[in-house]
Amino acid sequence: MPIIGIDLGTTNSLAAYFTEDGPVIIPNSFGEHLTPSIVSVGEDGEIYTGKIAAERRLTCPEMTASVFKRSMGTKKEYKLGDKSFLPEELSSFIIKKLKEDAEIFLGEPIEEAVISCPAYFSDAQRRATKTAGELAGLRVERIVSEPTAAAIAYGLHESDGNSKYLIFDLGGGTFDVSILDYADNIMEVRAVAGDNYLGGEDFNEVLIGMFLRTHDISPEGLTLRQAAALYKAAETAKLEFSKSKEVVMQCTLEDETYAMPVSLSEYEKNCELVLARLKVPVVRAMSDASVRLADVNAVVLVGGATKLPLVRNFVGKLFGMLPAQGINPDEAVALGAAIQAAMKERNAYIKELLLTDVCPYTLGTSVSVLRSNGLYQSGSFLPIIERNTVIPASKVERLYTLRDNQTVVDVEILQGENRKARDNIFLGQISISMPPAPAGNEAVDVRYTYDINGILEVEVTTVSTGLMKKIIIEKNPGVVSEDEIKKRFEDLSSLKIHPRDRDEYRYLLEKGERLYQEHTGALRQRIAEALADFDAALDGQDRGAIDEAALVLREFYEVVEAYNE
Ligand code: ADP
Ligand code: MG
Repeated sequence: MPIIGIDLGTTNSLAAYFTEDGPVIIPNSFGEHLTPSIVSVGEDGEIYTGKIAAERRLTCPEMTASVFKRSMGTKKEYKLGDKSFLPEELSSFIIKKLKEDAEIFLGEPIEEAVISCPAYFSDAQRRATKTAGELAGLRVERIVSEPTAAAIAYGLHESDGNSKYLIFDLGGGTFDVSILDYADNIMEVRAVAGDNYLGGEDFNEVLIGMFLRTHDISPEGLTLRQAAALYKAAETAKLEFSKSKEVVMQCTLEDETYAMPVSLSEYEKNCELVLARLKVPVVRAMSDASVRLADVNAVVLVGGATKLPLVRNFVGKLFGMLPAQGINPDEAVALGAAIQAAMKERNAYIKELLLTDVCPYTLGTSVSVLRSNGLYQSGSFLPIIERNTVIPASKVERLYTLRDNQTVVDVEILQGENRKARDNIFLGQISISMPPAPAGNEAVDVRYTYDINGILEVEVTTVSTGLMKKIIIEKNPGVVSEDEIKKRFEDLSSLKIHPRDRDEYRYLLEKGERLYQEHTGALRQRIAEALADFDAALDGQDRGAIDEAALVLREFYEVVEAYNE
């Protein structure tokens, strides 16, 4: 029974498995590699995912959720009709779909997965990712960082000698830069930096902004549906730039079709601010790893947004070299996750490779410091595990009592890079007791252990008595207990998931719905008639007749779409 690798992306998700010829992407029910990370609830309460949900985002935006990966690890609730979901629950629907597609494709049940997440994800976000997998009915013992997975997929570990790589991963909504060091069969992540709010979407926003300004349309007046239509128009135009230097962005709003011709250079100029933001994490990762430009042996582009010619140009100029080629940037992470899965299974076809990773942020506690006036001032941040420390890592700090006869020490667990304790993120607290004694005579040892999956364990021991208390951060926002996962798993299992064997038909109906809403007049009438014919075929329940009607409908859509252009 293979362990599959899953790239749970902000925009697209995909799964892969390992074969004797290497990792292979698992196609979904449409025979496609990418499944949009979108979830929609139907009028009858049925759950739709992927491409079907993507159509519904345009026709029923209030029933559809996307980009929820950005909220992973938070309690943000997505209200879809009368139901409400957390980010990890929405993600679980996507994973469930990938699992089912894999089971059909491989012809056997899948029980375990290795799931990737951005290197910059915090502890709470990693845990939510694991929960999402469990809610989908999978065992998830390993979470891997996306850039590490990508580096493995590119086979960077197959080169000889000592090398340094920079992985530049620009997806739909997250940006990660990682510096990897490969030597003696050990792949080490030396530094990671990133921006959880930067991705291909920002390049859509630029086009939307240009479009609204050109036509003097106020963004406030737009309905959800119009905003969705604009987004789709921008996405289509953006993809065109891979093929052409002159593109026309076109969108119908309130029965009027607006068009905007844009040249690549004009677009590039408007993207200057977004492009400038790409530099920040690159500089920080290189400085944290003490790596200079000249030391970088290869730059690897990962993520669909790196297909944008202006991003490629920008990277080429920044590094003065052409990026590595060969693997589809959309697929590298999933392929790498599948290789990781094979390593976990100790697959005979794979060479053992040691991986190391780093803790992406500083973990510490709050202490009092002695001021020059002889008084103590509380609230300083004491780093215990510094950012970009190789993990697994375990570090101890000894803290002494401040007051005579102090019987309790409160250890705050904090995450962040700020000098003042209160400006960092509070993860939890341990209070421990000790025998009364003069100030400074009693002490506690505070041990932070950060494991390979990015999970933090804190242990506090009173030195004189040996009393020990330990927590694995449970108070994080978005972190749920085993019992709660079990209960939620059952709740989610009672929801009706759209049956896979009807995906194609449903997709045609939802797409027809969208085309109907997008057009007016005679064409709209023709679409309604075509849909009615298809409905009739579906009602007839004769598979052969339905497939024939589906073929006719697909051809008809092609005509409608050609008419659009
Ligand atoms: P994620 O990791 O966030 O799921 P992906 O790696 O799938 O994202 O990348 C999705 C992003 O890539 C989207 O913003 C999409 O518009 C963009 N993208 C995909 N193909 C192209 C292309 N040919 N040109 C420009 N952008 C592209
Ligand atoms: Mg990605």
